[in-house]
Amino acid sequence: MLSNDQMVRYSRQILLRQIGGEGQRRLGAASVFILGAGGLGSPAASYLAAAGVGHLVIADGDRVELSNLQRQILHATDRIGLLKTESAARTLQALNPEVRVTAFGERIDENNLKTIIAGCDLIVDGSDNFATRYLLNQAAKEAGKVLISGAVLGFEGQIATFRHGVDPAAPCYRCLYPVSGEANGHEAVPTCATAGVLGAVTGVVGSWQAAEAIKELLGIGVSLSGSLVLINLLDGIVHRVRIAKDPCCPVCNS
Ligand SMILES: [Zn+2]
Repeated sequence: MLSNDQMVRYSRQILLRQIGGEGQRRLGAASVFILGAGGLGSPAASYLAAAGVGHLVIADGDRVELSNLQRQILHATDRIGLLKTESAARTLQALNPEVRVTAFGERIDENNLKTIIAGCDLIVDGSDNFATRYLLNQAAKEAGKVLISGAVLGFEGQIATFRHGVDPAAPCYRCLYPVSGEANGHEAVPTCATAGVLGAVTGVVGSWQAAEAIKELLGIGVSLSGSLVLINLLDGIVHRVRIAKDPCCPVCNS
């Protein structure tokens, strides 16, 4: 049963016929793992907390820096030097005290990742490098979880949903990117740290990831599984292209 306060707090989305009171209760019972309390994790976690997703698990080993604040809106100037997870938990709890936030302020590796995602229903990838994305993609397969992926650079962004953990016919991140930029002989893969990024782009992509997470948790709408959304905010263009399953993909065949 939803309380009176909950009926008011979530009224604008309970009004949506695809969500309703039953959808709201399901969101309250859901647990989402968000890797990264940075540019993508900030909007994604904020909208999931605001929407009443019952448990958010956030992992990030970094501390807040001045150069983060142009896009990482979970944090604030007086939080510089604080663990990002601690700052994130503070912001999210203030936004919605009903949501349980578990902060994991350490670097993610294969071992701790398994333990963390075992208790979660879904994974949101807000990481910024190929190695972590591959790690999450493999872990999603092994744990049987849906992975919502996002990436940004400059004025451009990408969003994709990988259901290979729950649907053997669905392609995975490795099907899309068989070889990482880093392992491809490109020593200087452009990153936000070297090539820059517009903060609003991370806002769009992270918010879109939150929407896809809610869709997957509730089983509503059209899943992005098998698709890649490409956005370019400088040109004002959004594309959606199909992703094929790679028959030789080592993750899908593992
Ligand atoms: Zn694959």
